[in-house]
Amino acid sequence: MNNPFETALAQLDQAAKIAKLEPKAIERLKNPDRYVEVSLPIIMDNGMQKIFKGFRSQHNNSRGPYKGGIRYHQQVNLDEVKALSFWMTFKNAVVNVPFGGGKGGIVVNPKELSETELEKLSRAYVQKLYMIFGPEFDVPAPDVNTNGKIMAWMLDEYEKITGKKAPATFTGKPLDHGGSQGREEATGFGGGVVLREALKNKVVEIPAGGAVAIQGFGNVASHFAEAISGTGLKIVALSDSKGGIYNPNGIDLNAAEAHKKNTGALAGLEGSKTISNEELLELPVEILVPAALENVLTGANADKIKAKLILEMANGPTTPEADQIFDKKSIVVIPDILANSGGVATSYFEWYQNMHGETWSKDDVLKKLDAQMVAATNDVLKIRTQSKTSFRNAAYIVAAQRIIEKMSA
Ligand code: NAD
Repeated sequence: MNNPFETALAQLDQAAKIAKLEPKAIERLKNPDRYVEVSLPIIMDNGMQKIFKGFRSQHNNSRGPYKGGIRYHQQVNLDEVKALSFWMTFKNAVVNVPFGGGKGGIVVNPKELSETELEKLSRAYVQKLYMIFGPEFDVPAPDVNTNGKIMAWMLDEYEKITGKKAPATFTGKPLDHGGSQGREEATGFGGGVVLREALKNKVVEIPAGGAVAIQGFGNVASHFAEAISGTGLKIVALSDSKGGIYNPNGIDLNAAEAHKKNTGALAGLEGSKTISNEELLELPVEILVPAALENVLTGANADKIKAKLILEMANGPTTPEADQIFDKKSIVVIPDILANSGGVATSYFEWYQNMHGETWSKDDVLKKLDAQMVAATNDVLKIRTQSKTSFRNAAYIVAAQRIIEKMSA
């Protein structure tokens, strides 16, 4: 299994070489400012104590407070959290919001916990880490398997401990806890804007009715699917952790959502074929959208990928070996640090509203987000053309230049 932190460092090295970036600054960016491991003892519903492991990595704050989600997953580990915090620093710089990069996680399968246990665990995480959080220092948000409800518990715990109202300490909160309109759909919506701009700039030619396969059907994937419905593209495959579905004539999103709600899985949706997550990636489609976990496109399957364009809505889905193969095959990869940056851009809008006591309408938020994503995509496209390099290298160059400018300021 690829180490995601090594993947992140290899990506930076490549961009640094192309743009001849300042070696001292690159060395600094290869080392997170700080990371911490905590143990979280919880009394489970059966009266027994169980100790969970949690992490937080604060990668770099040259451009503003550390910012990044908290992931609950059985495979969370320190290298993953470090890599995700690193990508946040670069993502925030690409999309040009005044945040640095952070990330956290707990090693847990939240599906195995009751609601009470989940709340205790979320509060315990804040009890152990509240001293390194704060609106001007480190601002967590949801990630895989965490959501607004968990952010509300965490904020409540933070405010109880510190004795201060500080809603800007967490983003991705429910609306009635200071959340922002549009945050829920922001990442998927933003990915839709990046794809629209890339196709407008003819990075590849996709015929009308071009087929799209999406891996995942969580927050990001489902809102991305919604964002591109009505654009003439046809979603032919979706998946969840239990497997995928394929219908070359197109999948009805409402029917898929209802089926998943009723049965707990996508598999078995009427009119579609049940496939594995691996098969989904190799389907004969124009556009492939990994929107679940990292390391799914590797040296082992890159040769079998038939898509012309890969839009990375998940963080770190492509290993450097796969990147090289895609490059040789002229498959265009729009990197995660640009493609999924709509989420954190809207987290910034939420943070800003909280800090200034403002409330923006959904229309306002999505309009601002659209403009922010268009600007970021065009900044990256400009460097891609100028440096005759990949989308990923161009995004790293744009970001690194913005970070280095502040580091030396
Ligand atoms: P989520 O928990 O809402 O959804 C995750 C999806 O992945 C679910 O459909 C789940 O069934 C599926 N999944 C889990 N394990 C899988 C496996 N082994 N194979 C295939 N599918 C699997 O999470 P999300 O918020 O949608 O995040 C998805 C990705 O997007 C992650 O990489 C996350 O870091 C990234 N991301 C999320 C946001 C955000 O705003 N939520 C922002 C930027 C990036």
